[in-house]
Amino acid sequence: MAEIKGPKTPCIICEKAILYLWPERGSSNLNNAVDIHISGHYGSSFDTMRYSGIICDDCLDSLIQRNKIEYIKSIYHTEKD
Ligand SMILES: [Zn+2]
Repeated sequence: MAEIKGPKTPCIICEKAILYLWPERGSSNLNNAVDIHISGHYGSSFDTMRYSGIICDDCLDSLIQRNKIEYIKSIYHTEKD
């Protein structure tokens, strides 16, 4: 999960302000956005480094529609997945 730095944080693509749901409770749930994690591996200048950020649902939908990002699975996967 992304670290909560304040009541809102920008989308890394469109920079729209994203609000956290229930920040007073320390929740990392986001309002119409997702958190992402990026890991650098051998061959990258960022090898061994990990990053996190936030993408709003509109930008994520646009990436999916343009096949710029690949669906892997639901985090609530079942035996059928
Ligand atoms: Zn966005």
